[in-house]
Amino acid sequence: MNSVPIYMDYHATTPVDERVLAAMIPFFGEHFGNAASTQHRFGWIAKEAVEAARTAIASAINARHREVIFTGGATESNNLAVKGIAKAYRGKGNHIITTAIEHKCVLDSCAALAHEGFRITYLPVDARGRVNPDDLKNAITENTTVVSVMFANNEIGTLQPMKEIGIVCRDHGIIFHTDATQAIDKQKIDVDDLNIHAMSFSSHKIYGPKGVGALYLRGKNPKINIVPQNDGGGQEFGLRSGTLNVPGIVGFGKAMQIATEMMEEEMGREKKLRDLLQEKLSLLGDISVNGSPEHRIQNNLSVTFHAVHAEMLMNELSDIAVSAGAACHSEETGNERFSHVLKAIGLDSGAGKSTVRFSLGRFTTDAEINIVAERVIHAVEKLRTYSLEGAQ
Ligand SMILES: *Cc1c(COP(=O)(O)O)cnc(C)c1O
Repeated sequence: MNSVPIYMDYHATTPVDERVLAAMIPFFGEHFGNAASTQHRFGWIAKEAVEAARTAIASAINARHREVIFTGGATESNNLAVKGIAKAYRGKGNHIITTAIEHKCVLDSCAALAHEGFRITYLPVDARGRVNPDDLKNAITENTTVVSVMFANNEIGTLQPMKEIGIVCRDHGIIFHTDATQAIDKQKIDVDDLNIHAMSFSSHKIYGPKGVGALYLRGKNPKINIVPQNDGGGQEFGLRSGTLNVPGIVGFGKAMQIATEMMEEEMGREKKLRDLLQEKLSLLGDISVNGSPEHRIQNNLSVTFHAVHAEMLMNELSDIAVSAGAACHSEETGNERFSHVLKAIGLDSGAGKSTVRFSLGRFTTDAEINIVAERVIHAVEKLRTYSLEGAQ
């Protein structure tokens, strides 16, 4: 059997692009300075590189230079945005609206706020994973200060009606934050056009290094305030203390620049490959594709193989890296919890545990699609035969 591992888990992380790595290397050695050292050349060179990356990232989303804050990743950006904004506007209200399908770091930030007396509304989604802007309108109260809705979901790929949500927030004078980690390299995002006030994203999902992220925070019309969650040296305009990861930030800037340049062509290519994989897997009976057929990121394919246990399927596919919808095991009991996202779109526990996420990327090839389709079809047929025999 072909033992070359195939990576089809680009929603989890991506390899560093070699152009990104090349840009980073000098900043580990020759240019090792601390960007906060303002009194000598070592610091100036680091600072200049950080500011160039900031400019590259800001211009990619139509933001202004000072509106981009570097963090340690999207988890930190989401914590800083959700908690930091909620606390900064506490005098105005204590109600936060988010969705049932957010990444755990947003849900857990909201849960932490709930412990401190905030009230949280979790908007439902339809069977395709979309929020209804009317539900948002109906959930708004005079105490609502922040709405946090993810741009694209990391399990089922669904894109939200961002423009409509932005308009609702603008009309009600509410701050709109989005976790755009999975969307930032898939489509051109203009924060002005979409009325976005705050936006989190991450380097390692776009072929940059791990442990670096950004928070876009609107500086005017209106200026958004946050309460910093790190106290210390006052880096990042006083909003995120801590010595900057200069090589990481340089890599992030380069990754963003490359992603923006490649976006249109590359997303067309990935969509074609994704559609091909979907078409091939559809030859199997009794599967369903999760998410929205028309509002879905181009590299996502979430498939429920009915009557097949995803964990067993993944065991059969040992040299193919994909992800199960029920990947979280409870440590104490060994029981699987099934994904809150699949639950929110109406899957029952059986279907949830039969769901596999394929996510394609920059280095996915036609040949890989063919191998994966062939191997998956073979394995599903085998497992279904076993379970039929077992039932007799
Ligand atoms: C990966 C991911 C995160 C977490 O990003 P890190 O940089 O790994 O902390 C948050 N939200 C979404 C949607 C993600 O896909």
